[in-house]
Parts: sequence; structure tokens; C-alpha cells
Amino acid sequence: MVDFITLLYYTKRNRIWLDKNIQMTAQLIDGKKIAQHVRNNVHSYVDTLKAANKRMPGLAVVLVGENEASKVYVNHKTKACEEVGFVSKSYELPATTSETELFALIDELNTDGTIDGILVQLPLPAGLDVENILERIHPHKDVDGFHPYNIGRLAQRIPALRPCTPKGIMTMIEATKRPIRGLDAVIVGASNIVGRPMGLELLLAGCTVTTCHKFTKALKEHVERADLLVVAVGKPNFIPGNWVKEGAIVIDVGINRMDNGKLTGDVEFDVAKDRADWITPVPGGVGPMTVASLIENTLEAYVKFHSRASKLTQSKAE
Ligand code: NAP
Repeated sequence: MVDFITLLYYTKRNRIWLDKNIQMTAQLIDGKKIAQHVRNNVHSYVDTLKAANKRMPGLAVVLVGENEASKVYVNHKTKACEEVGFVSKSYELPATTSETELFALIDELNTDGTIDGILVQLPLPAGLDVENILERIHPHKDVDGFHPYNIGRLAQRIPALRPCTPKGIMTMIEATKRPIRGLDAVIVGASNIVGRPMGLELLLAGCTVTTCHKFTKALKEHVERADLLVVAVGKPNFIPGNWVKEGAIVIDVGINRMDNGKLTGDVEFDVAKDRADWITPVPGGVGPMTVASLIENTLEAYVKFHSRASKLTQSKAE
């Protein structure tokens, strides 16, 4: 005879099995595909500009120093720009560049009528103050969305240029067509470029947001109740898959290079994928979306802010 508890157990297993039968396992949020879609939209807009003999949107990418990973990221960004028909200008400066020299270049780009977006690739070599440099970029050309003006606008629910990685993640979540208002969202990682602005985005979307960091107590309990989990820590398989709530949306921002040369995320993917409803792969998840958001931001700066930005900086210089 089957007792009640065992029956419940089997019923639950059966339900899960049936669910899996319909859905198999978590659905992958395909960042490459969604990013391509975003880029195609931008490309189409650029084609209409071309047909109307308008100036093309322009992005300036500034790389200081010899960081190999940064060189790869900068190449991806300039290539993506060229693919959608933007004008891209690259500036490679030596690691010995002074703050004054970098300011001079940024000032020049702030008033350059052919440039809509300025990106200074991070990290910067020691001796250069990141905050000073980022604040020197005109907020209307700050296509990375890191300037305090743009972060402040997001915090005040009137976003202008939004930080690229969280913006790309919101686009991915929208692509699942799953409503997220009212969900318990947990973000693990509280950096200025991912975790913190991610919290602002999710708050704006109506989630109840918890942000975890290295002083967070009982991380497991927070993760276990997350309907929507975003992890950006930078430690391979930092979140065990069995912490993931059944049916959750899981966004893995981490990019970790393993000894065998492969890239892996911060979430134990193989286990998490059988519990989540939606999950991002690494690679091919958040990474391509960050570049796609940069392209979108550059177009947004062109459309909404360009004339205002150059006028503002010109009158400042006068
Ligand atoms: P980061 O600046 O190093 O920040 C890591 C965050 O993790 C910090 O907020 C830190 O907390 C938190 N943390 C560290 N140990 C923790 C622990 N034991 N428990 C909970 N939180 C902990 O890194 P990031 O720039 O945000 O990047 C994170 C990862 O995402 C990296 O792998 C990076 O390569 C990747 N990334 C990917 C993309 C993309 O496009 N796919 C974009 C950006 C970053 P504290 O604040 O308390 O120090």
C-alpha cells in the first residue's frame, strides 16, 4: 500500500516529469540570437539614414594600455559597429598616458560632431582614476552608461543611456515574454557596472530586489527563494545548481576562463538547467547582449542627444 507521503512524492515527481515532458528542460535564452536581432534593427535604421543622405552614427573607443582581454573586447565592439554601418574610431594609448592627456582626448571627442558615443575600455592602468575619467565623458555620449548622471537618471526612474550589461539582460528577459512584475529578484554581485545598475533595472520593472555581496549572510537562502536570479561574481560554478528554485529565470553574467581554455559561468549550469525554466548559457548568453546594447545606446545617443551634447560642450568650452 502506498502511504500518503509517498503518494505526494510520486505525484510531485510525476508533475515535474510531465512538466519536463512539455518543456524538456530549461529553455536557453539565446543571447547570440537576440543580440543579432537587436543589431539587425539598428542596421535597418542606419540604412534609412543612409538612404536619406544623413550622417552615420559614430562611436569612439579608447583603449589605454596593453590588457589583452581588453583588446579582444575592443575588437568585438568596433567590429559590431562597422557591421551595423556606424563610423568607428579607435584610439590606442600607451599605459603611461597621463590623466591630463586622456582628458584632452575625451574633451576633443565630446565636441566632435561626428562622434555620438565615447567608450573608455575598463580596467584602466594603475595611476588613472576611473571615476574622474568616466565623469569627463559628456553624459549624452556616455554609451557605456556609467556616468553618475546616467546612473542617477536610472535610479530616479527616468533612464537615459543605460549601462550595457544590465540593459542587455532586460532585453533577454523581455524576449522570454515572461512577466516579471512582482517577482522576487536576487542579484549576486554588487559591482558598479553589473550588480548595482541591475538592481535599479529590476526595481524599475517592478521586482522585489535583493542584492547580495561578499558580506551577505546566508547567501543560499537568498538564492533559493529567487524567482529571478542574476549572478555576476566572477567565480566559476559559484552558485551550486541545486540552490536554484524550480521554475526560476537564471541569468549568468560570469565569464571565467578554465584551465582547459573553455569559458564557464558563475552558476553550475548542468544542474541548474534542470531546475530553471529559463537560463542563459556561457558563452553565448549575456556577453553578446552587452555589445548589442552598446550599439543600441550609440544609436540612441545619435537620435536623442547628439545635437544637445555638442551644443552643451561647445558652450562650456567658450
Ligand atoms: P567585480 O567588479 O569583481 O564584482 C564582483 C561582485 O561579486 C562584487 O560586488 C563582490 O562583492 C561580489 N562577490 C565576491 N565574492 C562574493 C561572495 N562570496 N558572495 C557574494 N558576492 C560576492 O565583477 P564584475 O565586473 O561585476 O563582473 C562579474 C563577472 O561578470 C565577471 O566574471 C566578469 O567577467 C563578468 N562580466 C561579464 C559581462 C558580460 O558582458 N557577459 C559584463 C561584465 C562582467 P563586493 O561588492 O562586496 O566586493
